[in-house]
Amino acid sequence: MIEAGEWTRGITRLAVLTGAGISTDSGVPDYRGPDGLWTRDPSAVEAFTYSRFMTDPAARARFWRTYVDHPAWRAEPNAAHRTLVALQRSGTAVRVLTQNVDGLHQQAGLPARTVLELHGTIHEVRCTGCDVRTPTAATLARVRAGVTDPRCDDCGAILKLAVVLFGEYLDDPVLDHARRIAAASQLLLAVGSSLRVEPAASLCAVAVRAGARLVIVNRDETPYDDLADEVVREPIGEALPRIVAALHANRRPTPTRMK
Ligand code: ZN
Repeated sequence: MIEAGEWTRGITRLAVLTGAGISTDSGVPDYRGPDGLWTRDPSAVEAFTYSRFMTDPAARARFWRTYVDHPAWRAEPNAAHRTLVALQRSGTAVRVLTQNVDGLHQQAGLPARTVLELHGTIHEVRCTGCDVRTPTAATLARVRAGVTDPRCDDCGAILKLAVVLFGEYLDDPVLDHARRIAAASQLLLAVGSSLRVEPAASLCAVAVRAGARLVIVNRDETPYDDLADEVVREPIGEALPRIVAALHANRRPTPTRMK
């Protein structure tokens, strides 16, 4: 049960680092959970490794097959996504740094400029040759029609979802921006992330070093639990609305007594 802890007081600038756990209630499977993508099929990891994807047509075929009928295409935002929108609309500056590629924060109503997609998005396809970006639906239509290794119409190079694969670097400007947001926040709320994938997870340390409070909401232990002001193990769909209500109620700083 969340008490309105001292850490909820006076927060007007909030950064929220979100991971797969915030989207599982929307039916998007996580990767390493009990029903996770890698748990059910460890060999799928190879198709999500950058060097393998770029060199092995069979891995690319495998990758596109995984996405042609992915639950993310039918997913709707859940209570946790919506509660962040409500907090932002009530006047708290909310910035989301997400490891998710499903676009559900924006679909819930957060303005795109307030959501940094650290690991990219499944909603766009990027050409690995000429860098042109196109909506994913067009490429998926070709895959459904039998194309196993879709190529760029303009330059013929390999097409890839605009997501960061294993062994691929994060976009530097995006990561720099995320570090600045983490450092400028009063509270970093890490929600539904195992905090085991770097450099995204290190944003927790960036925030704490800059003087922000850190609260972790996750089912399992994380390597950053010791740094946190509070660790919450309850289901996200219950915990987050309660935390947000406390942040809203306690937004005004505790009045200081007149001398
Ligand atoms: Zn191209």
